[in-house]
Amino acid sequence: MSIASLPFHDGRSIPQLGYGVFKVEPDIAADVTAQALAAGYRHIDTAKAYDNEEGVGRAIAESGIAREDLFVTTKLWNDAHAFDDAIAACEASLERLGLDYLDLYLVHWAVPAQGRYVEAWKALIALQERGLVRSIGVSNFPRPQLEEIIEVTGVVPAIHQIELHPYFQQRDLRALHAEHGILTQGWGPLGQGKSDLLENEVVTSIAAAHGATPAQAVLAWHLAHGFVTIPKSVTSWRIVENLAAAELQLTAEEIAAIDGLDREDGRGGSDPATK
Ligand code: NAD
Repeated sequence: MSIASLPFHDGRSIPQLGYGVFKVEPDIAADVTAQALAAGYRHIDTAKAYDNEEGVGRAIAESGIAREDLFVTTKLWNDAHAFDDAIAACEASLERLGLDYLDLYLVHWAVPAQGRYVEAWKALIALQERGLVRSIGVSNFPRPQLEEIIEVTGVVPAIHQIELHPYFQQRDLRALHAEHGILTQGWGPLGQGKSDLLENEVVTSIAAAHGATPAQAVLAWHLAHGFVTIPKSVTSWRIVENLAAAELQLTAEEIAAIDGLDREDGRGGSDPATK
C-alpha cells in the first residue's frame, strides 16, 4: 500500500493517512498500534492526554521499523502551556514514547480563556530549534488565535489539526490555511461514530458504486481534498480497511456530492473557542 506524503512549508513531509489512537485504552495500545504498523501505517497520532504514549512507544520499538520510516505525532496538554512546563512536557512524552525526537508536536487546544497559547507556541518553536521535534503545529485553534500566534512570532504552524468530516467542513479555517501554506489535518474524520454519517445515503451510494465501504468513501473524500487524515479503529479488519481507502479514487461529482453534506450544526466535539 503506497500512502502519499504531503509537503510541509518547513521542508519536511507527512504521510497523508495515519493511525489515530484517541480513546485507545493503555492496556491495548501496544497491540493495536502493532497491528496498524503491520498493516502498513507509518504515521501514528497520539497525545499526552490519551494516556497511551507508552504502549505506542512499545509497539514502535518492537516493530523493527527504522525510525526514519516512521512519523510520530504527540500533543502538548492544556495544563502545560507555560514555557518551561511545555519543554518538560515534551521531554516527558519523548521518554514515554522511547524516542529521541518527534516528527510533529502540536499544541493540543488553544484554550483562549487560559490565555497562554502564545507562550506554548514559543516553547514549540524552541523545541524545534533544539532538535527535539522536527515539525511543529497546532490543534483546535480558532481563527483569531491562529492569526495571533503567526503575527506575534512570525512562525507559521506546519499543520492545523481540527475536527473535520463531511458534516463539519471548516471552510473558513481551510481558507486561512491556504493563505498561509498550513496543511489541514482532520480529527474525527469518520464523525467519531457520533452521527449517522456512515449511513448517509450519499455516502453509502458512492461506496456501493466502488464496491467500497462507507468509511472508505469518507476517507477517500478527505484524501481527495488534500487533508491529512488519521482514522481510529481498534478492530483488526477496520484498521486494514481504513488504510486501503488510499486506493479509492472518487470522481469530481462524488466529491461534490459529499461536499454538499456540510451542516451548520455539524460540530460533534468541543468548540475550541470556549474549551
Ligand atoms: P474517528 O472519526 O476516526 O472515528 C473513530 C470511530 O469510528 C471508531 O471508534 C469506530 O467506532 C468508527 N470506525 C472506525 N473505522 C471504521 C470503519 N472502517 N467502519 C465503520 N466504523 C468505523 O474519530 P477519532 O478517533 O475521534 O479521530 C481520529 C483521530 O484523531 C483520533 O484517534 C486522534 O488521534 C485524533 N483526534 C484528535 C483530537 C484533537 O483534539 N486534536 C480530537 C479527537 C481525535
